[in-house]
Amino acid sequence: MNMLVWCLEVRELENNPHFNAGRGSALTSQGRVEMEACIMDGITKKCGAVSGLKTVVNPISLARLVMDKTPYVYLAFDGAEAFAMEQGVETADSNDHFITPENIEILKQEKEANITQLDFTQLTPKSLKKKKLAANGGSQFGTVGCVAIDNQGNLATATSTGGMPNKMVGRIGDTPIIGAGTYANTICAVSATGKGESIIRGTVARDVAALMEFKGLSLKEAAAYAVGSTPIGTAGLVAVSAGGEVTMPFNTPGMFRACATEDGYSEIGLWPSM
Ligand code: ASP
Repeated sequence: MNMLVWCLEVRELENNPHFNAGRGSALTSQGRVEMEACIMDGITKKCGAVSGLKTVVNPISLARLVMDKTPYVYLAFDGAEAFAMEQGVETADSNDHFITPENIEILKQEKEANITQLDFTQLTPKSLKKKKLAANGGSQFGTVGCVAIDNQGNLATATSTGGMPNKMVGRIGDTPIIGAGTYANTICAVSATGKGESIIRGTVARDVAALMEFKGLSLKEAAAYAVGSTPIGTAGLVAVSAGGEVTMPFNTPGMFRACATEDGYSEIGLWPSM
C-alpha cells in the first residue's frame, strides 16, 4: 500500500463522525474542537505533525503537507491554520462543522461528573452500553491510527485525534508527538491511543522500536512491554514490523482495532481476544 492510499484511509476515518478525529472530535472544556495529527515515513524518518486545528477538515492531510512541503516537523494553532490556507487544503466555515450532538452530550456528562478526562479503567462492555458509548456510539475511544507496510518492506504510520474530551484549551496530547503516540523507522511502525499524558511520559511508540533494536525483542514482546509500562487503563497501540508481524496490545478494557493483508486476511476487534 503506498503512502497516498494509506493516508486516504485515515482521511476516511476523520470524515466519519463516529471516530474521535476530524468531524466527531472530542470537545475542549469550552465546547470547541482542537484537532491534531501526525504522519511518519519509516525509511526516510520524514514526519509531519499538526495541533490546535479548528477548521481543517482533514488534519492528516495537513500533517502530510508539513512533512512534504516544509523543512519543519510540527506546526500548531494559528501558524498551522495559516499554512492550511496557503496550501489550499479543505477547511470548514466554522468549528461547528466538527461538533456532533454525541460529543456535546459526552462533554455535558464529563462536566457534571467533574472529570477532565475519561477514566478508561472503569469501562466494561456493560458500562459502555449503559453510557450509550458502544462501538458506533460516542467518540471518546476513537482516535484513529494506521500503520502500514508495503511489499518492499517500507513502513509508515499516521495518527489523528480530537484529543481527550473536556481537555483544557491548548492542551496537546501524544498523537502529534513523534516517539510518543506516533513513530516509524525501518524496524517498525507504531500508532498509539489512550491517555496522552501517560503515553508521552512513557515515550511508548519509540520504546517499541528501541526495545526491538537494542534488546532484540520481537514486535509483540516490545509492544507488550511498552504498553505494560504505562499505568493500567491508559494505553493501547497498533504496530507492524518490517517482517510483517502485527500486534495490537492495550491495557484498557477495550480498543477498536482491525488488520488486513493484501492476501485477504482480516481481523477486527474491540474487547480483548479470547
Ligand atoms: N491519545 C489521545 C490524546 O490523549 C486520545 C485518544 O487516544 O483517545 O489526545
